[in-house]
Amino acid sequence: MSDLLQTLVQAFDRMSGAYEVMARRLSGQIEQLEAERTALRGQISDLSQQQAALLRSNQDLARLTADLSGKVALLQHRTEEVVRQDQLKSDLLATVSHELRTPLTSIKGALSVLLTEDPPAPEVRAEFLGIAHQNVGRVMRLIGNFLNLTQLEAGQIGLSLRPLDLAEVLAASVEQVRGLAAERRVSVQVEPFAAPVPLTGDPERLESVFINLLDNAVKFSPEGADVAVRVQADPQWVTVHVRDRGPGIPPDEVPRVFERFFRGSPAVTRQLPGSGLGLHISKVIVEAHGGRIGVESRLTEGSTFTVSLPRGGSRPGV
Ligand code: ADP
Repeated sequence: MSDLLQTLVQAFDRMSGAYEVMARRLSGQIEQLEAERTALRGQISDLSQQQAALLRSNQDLARLTADLSGKVALLQHRTEEVVRQDQLKSDLLATVSHELRTPLTSIKGALSVLLTEDPPAPEVRAEFLGIAHQNVGRVMRLIGNFLNLTQLEAGQIGLSLRPLDLAEVLAASVEQVRGLAAERRVSVQVEPFAAPVPLTGDPERLESVFINLLDNAVKFSPEGADVAVRVQADPQWVTVHVRDRGPGIPPDEVPRVFERFFRGSPAVTRQLPGSGLGLHISKVIVEAHGGRIGVESRLTEGSTFTVSLPRGGSRPGV
């Protein structure tokens, strides 16, 4: 019995030794696992920091890309604008040089006649001085439009607004086309209205608008026809109608007459002088005053151009 007990005790001793070894080994392994877990946690936190940094760099990159494509678009836009301006300058130069040639040739011809006739008969003198005078007017109108357009394109419309009397501006404009009207035997009538018509505007620019409209009305009128100017005023707006009995404007051309360089079929087919600038410039000037310009036209019956201006001056910012 005691042998048996001894054997059992020895067996227990061995077992507990084995357990101790196993327990030590296990706790060693657990410690190692703990250490690995801590190391892994560290790596995970490093990784997530790196991921956050990557995300930030990505966002920075996206911002930079967006910024860059914005700059590329701007550059492209500026390049197109420079090309457009360059094209406009060439077109303007070509148009103006071409349009100057005709009146200058007429002036030169008239002056040659006056110089060679010695002394010129009074009627010859009057006729050729009249021609020279007419054509100087045309040259001045063309250069006026050219300067207006150059300033408009450079964004320097720079209206010089002041109180003015529309009646005076209209009278001065009519005066400018008197000679051309007489040459073409077209009468220009301003229908009676209650003058003065005070309003705020830029008198020189408005004068060039009415000169352009009257010049066209006279130019497109058949010989002996009349051009009528009618003024309507109310406390807020003043409207000027310029009516002619010319060939009218084909319906498909009406929406285009205010485009820059547009010259319609009556002008082209009848070879009338012109640059296709007058109506475009007039529209820009009228709109800069906060006004509106339009046209109603019937083929073979004539056209009426209408300019409406607010009496208080331009829209803010001009
Ligand atoms: P331009 O008279 O120098 O050709 P505008 O800009 O003044 O240029 O006019 C543009 C076009 O509008 C003209 O070529 C013509 O076809 C048309 N137009 C303008 N005014 C009249 C008018 N009173 N009657 C008929 N057509 C007109």
